[in-house]
Amino acid sequence: MKVLKFGGTSVGSPERMKKLLDIIDASQRQIVVLSAVSGTTNSLVEISFAYLHNDKEKAAMLIEALKAKYEVFIADLFNNSEFLNQGKEVIDYHFTLLKNLANDHFTTIEEKIVLAQGELLSTTLYHVYLHQIGVPSVLLPALDFMKIDEDNEPMIDYLTAHLLPLLNKYPENNLFITQGYICRNSFGEIDNLRRGGSDYTASLIGAGIRSEEVQIWTDIDGMHNNDPRIVKGTKPIAQLSFDEAAELAYFGAKILHPQSVFPAQKYKVPVRLLNTMDPKAAGTLISTSSEKNKIKSIAAKDDITAIKIQSSRMLLAHGFLRKVFEVFERYKTSIDMITTSEVAVSITIDDTSHLKEIKEELLRFGTVDIDTNQTIICVVGDFGAEQHGYAARVLEAVKHIPIRMISYGGSDHNMSLLVKAEDKIEILRSLHNRLF
Ligand code: ADP
Ligand code: ASP
Ligand code: MG
Repeated sequence: MKVLKFGGTSVGSPERMKKLLDIIDASQRQIVVLSAVSGTTNSLVEISFAYLHNDKEKAAMLIEALKAKYEVFIADLFNNSEFLNQGKEVIDYHFTLLKNLANDHFTTIEEKIVLAQGELLSTTLYHVYLHQIGVPSVLLPALDFMKIDEDNEPMIDYLTAHLLPLLNKYPENNLFITQGYICRNSFGEIDNLRRGGSDYTASLIGAGIRSEEVQIWTDIDGMHNNDPRIVKGTKPIAQLSFDEAAELAYFGAKILHPQSVFPAQKYKVPVRLLNTMDPKAAGTLISTSSEKNKIKSIAAKDDITAIKIQSSRMLLAHGFLRKVFEVFERYKTSIDMITTSEVAVSITIDDTSHLKEIKEELLRFGTVDIDTNQTIICVVGDFGAEQHGYAARVLEAVKHIPIRMISYGGSDHNMSLLVKAEDKIEILRSLHNRLF
């Protein structure tokens, strides 16, 4: 059974929604994961922000504006009054819920309820649309099987145990529609898998049901060899290994949610990245195999903070790095890059919510320097230990740009550089011109 995920632009207009059936083969049993209609989650973020700041008037205005968009949307999606009325009931239900939150004390619990409405709306409207055109489908509530634990880690065994019985209830049915992004947390509250999380949902479902393939349908023909929003002339990559794709996703290739490769990789479920606007294009296949001895792609991760801890006591001391890492562990802050010398260690993080406390604790070991506004540039490919020349080619391409950190050899397929955010565009372009 395949899992097909369609992103925001792929369901972004009634016309696009209607076209999904050109891609979905309704004669095959499959799970279709939908994102919110593009722009909706951003609007929901604004609505929560207004509520969190107790600006109920602003929230009401934003809710009305979003509702008006959905009224136009359904007027186009449904062509007879019976289904149009059903569509109206759907949007009334969700927008009344949003409005009624004005009467509650608004906390992060309510915020997550707000953020969940986008995927609930898109999937329900699509389900009603399929009904209108006589295509049988089952709407599967993601909140019944998608769960994260107390460390915010998705629970794949829980998913398998709860999703398979749901699927088995409908042996005659082919099309199952479900929400991307949303889940329940360990308290049973509505939560989410972070922005862009529908990719993660698709990969988790693919892993949980040991799917034959996960397809991520988006607005571009696969993973490109550089960020197409910044660099001209980027090209799609035909094949990537799971490791290569995971590095690119984690280090900023927006086409994939940062964690979305791991579940599929764990159960060796191939992932295809495909273009809804050009369904015949080959796209990118992510699997256990990939072309060897080649630089594949470049990605950039913004808003990075570098922390340098300098200590004369580090000299010859064992256990020093452990103590440093323990500080980050205590504040549940993950480290992206590390470089060391005999007297100093530099570390990068992207979550700075505990930076102040972390700095205070690190000061016990020596001096601490913090640089904000950094960017990690990640060059990904297959450059095994016996290969030579890759690092030289990368460094040659960036010799005119100051480099704060370099990490190479952590794996066979990644070389990362830390630079100032202001140098990002130049470094991406320069690497592109020299490497491809
Ligand atoms: P969706 O809404 O379908 O999830 P996203 O906007 O999240 O789509 O991801 C697709 C976008 O990712 C593309 O339109 C492209 O601008 C951007 N992108 C950034 N880096 C890359 C890359 N290396 N390859 C392809 N797309 C990329
Ligand atoms: N709708 C969510 C977002 O905009 C999830 C997704 O699109 O993948 O972040
Ligand atoms: Mg996305």
